[in-house]
Amino acid sequence: MSNDALLRELIDAGVAGLTVSWADNNGIPRSRTVPIRGLHAAGETGIGVTSLFAVFDSSDAITFEHPGLSTPSGDTRLVADLSRVVQLAGQPALAWAPGNLVAADGSTWPYDQRGVLQRVVAELAGTGLTALAGWEIEFTVERDGEPGHHGPAYGPAALTEIDEFVAAVLQDFAANGLAINQLHAEYGPAQVELSLDATDPVSAADDQLLARQTLRAAARTHGLTLSFAPLPSLSHAGNGWHLHTSLWRGAENLLTGGPDGPTGEGASYLAGLLRDLPAVAAITAPSLGSLARLRPGFFAGAFAFWGVENREAPLRYVPGTDFLGQERANLELKVCDASANPYLALAVTLACGAAGIAEGLTPPAAYGTDPGTWDESDRAARGVAALPSTPDDQEAALAATPRIEGVLGSDLLSAFRAVRRSDAAAARDTTQDDVLGGLRFRY
Ligand code: GLU
Ligand code: MG
Repeated sequence: MSNDALLRELIDAGVAGLTVSWADNNGIPRSRTVPIRGLHAAGETGIGVTSLFAVFDSSDAITFEHPGLSTPSGDTRLVADLSRVVQLAGQPALAWAPGNLVAADGSTWPYDQRGVLQRVVAELAGTGLTALAGWEIEFTVERDGEPGHHGPAYGPAALTEIDEFVAAVLQDFAANGLAINQLHAEYGPAQVELSLDATDPVSAADDQLLARQTLRAAARTHGLTLSFAPLPSLSHAGNGWHLHTSLWRGAENLLTGGPDGPTGEGASYLAGLLRDLPAVAAITAPSLGSLARLRPGFFAGAFAFWGVENREAPLRYVPGTDFLGQERANLELKVCDASANPYLALAVTLACGAAGIAEGLTPPAAYGTDPGTWDESDRAARGVAALPSTPDDQEAALAATPRIEGVLGSDLLSAFRAVRRSDAAAARDTTQDDVLGGLRFRY
């Protein structure tokens, strides 16, 4: 459809504005809304946005500690991807589109997270590879500050308490072009999960942002408040946003393997991701809430290892079967949550995995149990270490591999680290309860 036809169709449908959204270095969605007559301009020259969004921290404070963005001066353009415009089913006066941030002269801006993922996807294509990706989304549902449902976990009874919301989610996701794979009452108090079908990486990240907006609108309509935070409070279960990926050469899924794991290049993809997992986790589970979520025994993936269908493993291999189709094989990254920028999360996951293919790496042994139940000496003997559990650990992990900087570029990585330091400094004199409380409704 031409952009003229798109504009006419949206106006005829009663759309008054276009919201263009991106995600910052805290995984927080940000946006600008223009009257719908501004659609062409939003897609061509974009909307003015301060360059300082690259150094916003999780509580909207601006850090000036990254040398490239250390003054109040500077502007960028937020260019809408008009191929992705949808009229929002739950907010029908608005259309929505993801955007790229470009420099004021239209050139590439080094802090554009969506552009980073687009570049990684193009580089994969240059080596004959494509990827599929899909997120699981866990969240907590409240009504007037009380639990939105009372279980039982996985019970249809729990969902009857939020029946109108669930119906709206199913309808609005379909109308917004988001393919839900399944939905259920999750294990934790008042927790719900839905998963999205796998699609190409940039669409998967776009869809993850659109899913947040769609969920929030449905919740508002039905009097609910949602928390997407990695750990809404110490008495909640963690909200993991597990990321499933598979890598393909043409019609061949490289993750296809057997009950013992992937073979060949699929095994090397897994090995590459495992090699850099501490640094990858610093991008895919970056916030103070992420660190609080990573508790052993909570299926969040606290130790760096992999397993076949092992729910305690941060890298869980999901084999295909003849029953389901061998092409369904994929690798689940559990150490990922809503405080990750979805574009950066996918970019580092795919790039570190692909580096394993380029170098022909072989993965270490898989484990089928929970290393959190082993002695420290057993973990040491098997080379299984805890993933970063403090901001200092994250800094060290990021510094220990050249590959994250290779993906993000030095400017974006430096801004990202400055933002993490700003969060850590703000938390220094507060309690963990207050930190988690401050993050509860940010994502
Ligand atoms: N809620 C868990 C987490 O923090 C995941 C539970 C599950 O395996 O679905 O990631
Ligand atoms: Mg789950």
